[in-house]
Amino acid sequence: MGILHLLNFNCVFPTCNFKCNNVEEIEFLKHLKEKHSEELLKISKKEKMSIKAVEMITTSNSSVFINT
Ligand SMILES: [Zn+2]
Repeated sequence: MGILHLLNFNCVFPTCNFKCNNVEEIEFLKHLKEKHSEELLKISKKEKMSIKAVEMITTSNSSVFINT
C-alpha cells in the first residue's frame, strides 16, 4: 500500500476559483485537464515546454503547503 499524499490546492489561474482540500495530486490534475487544457496548451507553446511540464509546474504552484 502506498502512502497517500494529500494536499490542499488553490487553482493558480486567476479566472478560476477552484479550491480543493485534502486531495491527491491526481484530483487536481483532473481539474487542470478538464478546465484548463487550452491555457496549458498556450503556456506550453509560449514557454516551449511540454504539456506535462506545464501541468507539473501549475500543480506545484497551485498547491498550498500547510504546517500540521
Ligand atoms: Zn482551475
